[in-house]
Amino acid sequence: MIFDRNHLPLKLVEQVKYMPKIELHVHLEGATQAEVFYELAQKNKIDFGVSSLEEWQSFFAFKDFGHFLRVYTLAITALKEPEDYTFIITEFYRQQAEQNIVYSEAFISASFIIQKFETYAILKAIEKGIKQGSEKYGVKINFIPDISRELVNTQMAVVDFVIEGNKRGLFIGLGIGGPESGFPPELFAKAFEKVRKAEIHIVAHAGETEGAKSVWGALKILGAERIGHGIRSLEDPELIQYLVKKQITLEVSPTSNYALGIVKSDEIHPIRKLLEAGVNCTINSDDPAMFSTSLSKEYFLLLKQGFNCFELYQMNINALKSSFADKETKSKISLLLNTFERNRTVFEAKDQLIPR
Ligand SMILES: [Zn+2]
Repeated sequence: MIFDRNHLPLKLVEQVKYMPKIELHVHLEGATQAEVFYELAQKNKIDFGVSSLEEWQSFFAFKDFGHFLRVYTLAITALKEPEDYTFIITEFYRQQAEQNIVYSEAFISASFIIQKFETYAILKAIEKGIKQGSEKYGVKINFIPDISRELVNTQMAVVDFVIEGNKRGLFIGLGIGGPESGFPPELFAKAFEKVRKAEIHIVAHAGETEGAKSVWGALKILGAERIGHGIRSLEDPELIQYLVKKQITLEVSPTSNYALGIVKSDEIHPIRKLLEAGVNCTINSDDPAMFSTSLSKEYFLLLKQGFNCFELYQMNINALKSSFADKETKSKISLLLNTFERNRTVFEAKDQLIPR
């Protein structure tokens, strides 16, 4: 049975809320709320071309991909001083903690940062945000700066930024995002080679707006250890076999896929097919503020599509296993998950569900 889109049993909603969650694909800037950008724009005297917060909020709401890019580019102009990053990072910790997301890996749009700020000043501001956020909210977040594909010329500067931040314990990997079409992996091979040599983790958005070829490139040319989205891997059975064999995890973000039209609104999300094929999938919110979602809402969406709580819990465990968290963090979170499991909350919830 597929749940009515508007009605989920209250107990199930509570289960998702209290489950200690792991998120591997979320963008710091895309998680920053409209009102926070507005507040920063006022402070920094940035003109958003609107006359009130309400007007900005309605502009900020997702409409289509072109509009999304305009909002994103305009919103981040409000991040003018290094300390603005301290502020949004601390806010981000608050939001993740509020949802009981105990461990996250989050992207920072580094191609924009390196054009605006002096490296040491911005690294210091980021460090301060991480320190403040983790002390105040007690959740763990590892940051992954990413290259925006369309800003090809920023790639080597982003690499240096990542290596420097990694030395200081601030960054755990390098990512790549932005438009896949016209910016194939080959253009970024050198940058990723340098990062691989520095033994820093690598992830890549691929197989979202482009098909399987883009995923192959991310794996073979860039050396990606996980794939952001990757749902179009289904177009190539050989690639699916490879993902299963090499146990490569996909960071799936259902709402984002529906919003950007990667998956049609009347279709069941392909995450079901991927799981059935044996691909390791995780659930993520991508740009939650911009898509009006949250990690919990992603879980609700899948519950409404016939997933049961146990399957979702399993994907949560998969996320921890395929994360880049250190041993100590992994065992701490495993303990939290064991406690949750011992209370049998997950399995009680499973009992409530009628099989598909
Ligand atoms: Zn993303």
